[in-house]
Amino acid sequence: MVGTRRARRRKNVTSSRAARCAILDPVPPVAKVEPITTARALRGPFDYLRPDGVGIGSVLVVPFGHRDVVGVVVGLADSSDLPDDRLVAPRRVLGHDLPPDLVELAGWIADEYCSTPARALALVSPPPGGRAKLIWWATATERSAETDPSGRAPTERQRALLAGLPRPAGSDLPALRRLEARGLVTLCQRATRRHVQHETVGARRAQPALTADQARVLADVEIAIEEQEPQPVLLHGVTGSGKTEIYLRAAATTLQQGRGVIILVPEIALTPQIVSRFVDRFGDTVAVLHSKLSAGERHDEWARLRSGAARVCVGPRSAVFAPIERLGLIVLDEEHDSSYKHEGDPRYDARHVALRRARQAGALLVAGSATPRPESVHGLRRLRLPARVDGRPLPPVQIVDMREQPGALAPATSHALVDAPKAIVLLNRRGWSNFVDCRSCGHAWTCPQCDVSLVLHRAHERLACHHCGHHERVPQRCSECGSMSVARHGAGTERLEHDLAQIGHEVFRLDADVRDPGVLLRRFEQAPGGILLGTQMVAKGHDFPDVTLGVVVDADSTLRFPDFRAEERTFALVAQLAGRAGRGPGGGRVLVQTMAPDAASIAAAARHDADGFLAGELARRAALRYPPFSHLIRIVCAAPEGPAVGEAARAIRAALGEIPGAIVLGPAPLFRLRGRERAQLVIKGTQRARAVRAAGAAVAEVAGDRTRRGVAFSVDVDPQ
Ligand SMILES: [Zn+2]
Ligand SMILES: [Zn+2]
Repeated sequence: MVGTRRARRRKNVTSSRAARCAILDPVPPVAKVEPITTARALRGPFDYLRPDGVGIGSVLVVPFGHRDVVGVVVGLADSSDLPDDRLVAPRRVLGHDLPPDLVELAGWIADEYCSTPARALALVSPPPGGRAKLIWWATATERSAETDPSGRAPTERQRALLAGLPRPAGSDLPALRRLEARGLVTLCQRATRRHVQHETVGARRAQPALTADQARVLADVEIAIEEQEPQPVLLHGVTGSGKTEIYLRAAATTLQQGRGVIILVPEIALTPQIVSRFVDRFGDTVAVLHSKLSAGERHDEWARLRSGAARVCVGPRSAVFAPIERLGLIVLDEEHDSSYKHEGDPRYDARHVALRRARQAGALLVAGSATPRPESVHGLRRLRLPARVDGRPLPPVQIVDMREQPGALAPATSHALVDAPKAIVLLNRRGWSNFVDCRSCGHAWTCPQCDVSLVLHRAHERLACHHCGHHERVPQRCSECGSMSVARHGAGTERLEHDLAQIGHEVFRLDADVRDPGVLLRRFEQAPGGILLGTQMVAKGHDFPDVTLGVVVDADSTLRFPDFRAEERTFALVAQLAGRAGRGPGGGRVLVQTMAPDAASIAAAARHDADGFLAGELARRAALRYPPFSHLIRIVCAAPEGPAVGEAARAIRAALGEIPGAIVLGPAPLFRLRGRERAQLVIKGTQRARAVRAAGAAVAEVAGDRTRRGVAFSVDVDPQ
């Protein structure tokens, strides 16, 4: 296979690239450099003298003001507006450069998400802090031991050492140094790679035969890969329909053409199965990029991708920036997952960036899901996998009406859990109880920084804010009236864990309080029985064939959010959890506890009716002009003082003026967060570029006013 052969040839790639650059060196003597700083006010690029071999994408250290900063070359020019004596040379050129198309992509991200070129370039740049790991490498010289002028015959051990070369010196370094002194060995330093350990969950399997549906879809995908400008596709397949096998085969086809592959997954810790399947199938040409790697490992994986030694990158949203040249395929697995949206500036959506990058590279984008977003159904060509690969039906789903039921679990649910050897239970709330108040005076414990209730975590004996991290001791008495009667309301995963343990099964709790989800998932997989309990993390792509029961506790918790995506999220959560049950010969069933048994999203999920749900949801959004029938842009103003926030928000409203094809909602107050009052405006527009430009200009104008220094502004295009 092409990828593996490349891997064996990789040793001299860096030097050959340098040689190629030298031959093709363009003439322009000026390099336009964008310094990578977070300051919003500072806009480059700035001119520097261009050293030999430096081109677009080169990463440099440049003198900037009174310090040295890292910068990226974003352009070249024949001349500069700076006088000759002020045009200075960079301090040095760093070892890794960026592919020019990533530099272009960063420019697009800066505009598309109202951010700065520097912040966008930071996303695509080599990972900071890592460097190559060097080892001593020993090679035998031409000179033989017998002709050694010293005349000393080598010892038995020295002969054995010489026979084993070339190899890393390791603990034999002192002995090899003595041979080096006699001219029999050369020692040099070499970069060596840190191997990333992959978690293996699920049995290794041979390449399975395709079903007729899979073969049809794969044929379609393979035709698209061959095209010059392939149209992106949505792979809509029920849970267990074998989407991953399509990704694997499409990746193999792409590699055979000498092109690279990016596989995006929601969260690597929760989806070790897909990583191990790619590593099993393609071996060393697979690199992973994610935040759990050490700086050194990340450096090495990035460098392997950049040099072409690795041609497949698997990772979460940031892997959309993998430095792969000649990209042929981008896969977006579980495309409905909200983790694809980045919450820091630039607030990019990896799904939108992936579309752009695929178009830029002439690569095929395959977005896959059992519960695709209405946007994707509306905008992409859809390929269907309507049945599970094993031919089993989806498990029956029973709705349990909780309106008359006290307690967290209905009796029917408890009985089913007693009988099931292995079950998954979903409750989308962490902690013990979701709020605490005084029975005597009604005082409720809230976060001093945010206007939200504090959540009781019994294991740590504290009340915690899930927004800012504030925590305090569990009160013994009311701070307002002194009453000893403090009530705990609602149940979170911690409380339910306690209740479920009474049933007698082992309980494996998976939520954001768990340090190592991969280890926990493996323990659950290997256990003969038990209950996997957790937040929405338990519904994400795991495949445990012996799970026969799925339970959703409080299915309407997501429906209560005042958000146009509430229906979509609820449908996805119930349908995804249903997809985890009954994947083995034992079959299975699903119970959905809800206070809203008639809610359209819950009823449709119980019928496995994705088409019905999507049709209804698209009609609702068309009527209300929500995405995909408009684009939303959210502007949030935040400051410690309420009046300053209100004033800034009104100024933004005025600066926005009339935007063609758009309406502006707000300003409206938001709940206080991390000690800051907030207000938001939402632009709902049909012409995306126009609305984005208007938002960016309004914020630049208002934020530029010195009297508003204390107010922070954030722009979120396509908020989730
Ligand atoms: Zn009280
Ligand atoms: Zn808080």
